[in-house]
Amino acid sequence: MIVCKFGGTSVQDTPAIERVIGIVRKRAAEQPLVVVSALAGVTDWLLGLARLAEMGGSGFRDRLAELVGRHEMTARELPGAEEALGAIHAEANDLAHELEAIAGRRAIPREIDAITGRGELWSSRLIAAALCGAGVPAEWVDIRSVMVTDDRFGRATPYTQVLSVRARERLGPLLERGVVPMTQGFIGATATGIPTTLGRGGSDFSASLIGAALRAKRVEIWTDVDGLMTADPRVVPSAQTLAVASYEEAAELATFGAKVLHPATAVPLVHEGIPIVVLNSRHPDRRGTVIEPSADLTLLGDSPIRSISWKRGITVINIRAPRMLGAYGFLRQLFEVFERHEVVVDVLASSEVSVSLTIEDPRHLDLVRRELDDLGEVWVDHKRAIIAVVGIGLKTTPGLAARVFGAVGEACVEVISQGASAINMTFTVKDEDGPEVVRRLHREFFGTC
Ligand code: ADP
Ligand code: ASP
Ligand code: MG
Repeated sequence: MIVCKFGGTSVQDTPAIERVIGIVRKRAAEQPLVVVSALAGVTDWLLGLARLAEMGGSGFRDRLAELVGRHEMTARELPGAEEALGAIHAEANDLAHELEAIAGRRAIPREIDAITGRGELWSSRLIAAALCGAGVPAEWVDIRSVMVTDDRFGRATPYTQVLSVRARERLGPLLERGVVPMTQGFIGATATGIPTTLGRGGSDFSASLIGAALRAKRVEIWTDVDGLMTADPRVVPSAQTLAVASYEEAAELATFGAKVLHPATAVPLVHEGIPIVVLNSRHPDRRGTVIEPSADLTLLGDSPIRSISWKRGITVINIRAPRMLGAYGFLRQLFEVFERHEVVVDVLASSEVSVSLTIEDPRHLDLVRRELDDLGEVWVDHKRAIIAVVGIGLKTTPGLAARVFGAVGEACVEVISQGASAINMTFTVKDEDGPEVVRRLHREFFGTC
């Protein structure tokens, strides 16, 4: 069997869903299982509804009607898809009650997960019905009974052993009968059935978890670009597609901003060595990028690097503590603060008496900062961007750092980290300098920008 995951833009409207039907039909002999995201922009829209509802009043109702209207219109344009509308309307009704329930107060993460997960339920219902309408035997499957997770709402972790058993029980028989299971990315539920989500962009991760559970031949990630590229094509229009990449490269690029893949996508597939193929749903015949353990990572031309990614909106925390000099146990104390508040640290650089590190999610910053103040002098820089230069040639190429920093130009480089990973060099600059730095690096290493 194979898993085909379609992201938001690949299911955004009627023509996009028609392309999905064509792609799935063509793969019928390979026993495809389809995982979909919400229609493009719907998860953000649902979050917007929650924020409106929190403010009180009935202001969210028109926006909810508009969202349901978008699904209705798409359903009417696709033969057979109207079948899905009954269920979508019933769920929209439940959603309206849930939104009313948070009026005038801040919703808790459990409530937000129930609200934001609706997008995937609706898109999958629509597309399952459209597939059947087009003569492709498909069955809608509610993944929440299969993707059992812990209760860390907003970033729940699936229990992979439960998933393997349930996926084989629930999805295996459909595949054997030649039916296409049509299910949702992004969402799961606790063992007691409370809806959860795996975090933004999590549908890729859902697809690879299901692929690992069912020992898929490959996991296809269908998106709106040709594959993993030398840089984000929105920033560098001339970026080239990588024909192959390793799991490690893909994970590094994704962690530092290449949105095309969720950073954890490769993790469930490493053990079995299942390949991921990133493909463009607008151009299904293009080859895409194959991500696999045995990838032959030839260099692109004479460039020692293979890709540049960047991520904005990062916070840098600096701690200066003279008592760190020659002392042991300081870093443990420091990291315990981050652990206590469940704050993820991305990039780290340290000197004799100071440490700089970056975090993406500043929600618990005040609490962290209060405790760090006991360890030393603390200052925080907001609105920073992480730039990551990734490539197999990184460690073995003399003078590479000089080329990287020479290309950066006027921008002020702050935290620098290299060495922890053999294939990655990261540093931070001010947010507003990010795109220009990426373009300059691309010009330096790939000749275009
Ligand atoms: P989907 O909705 O299919 O999940 P995403 O928007 O999450 O798609 O990811 C695709 C986007 O990732 C592309 O439109 C592109 O702008 C962006 N992107 C960022 N970095 C890269 C990169 N190195 N290679 C390819 N795409 C990238
Ligand atoms: N729809 C979810 C999001 O927008 C999950 C995904 O698309 O991967 O984050
Ligand atoms: Mg995505």
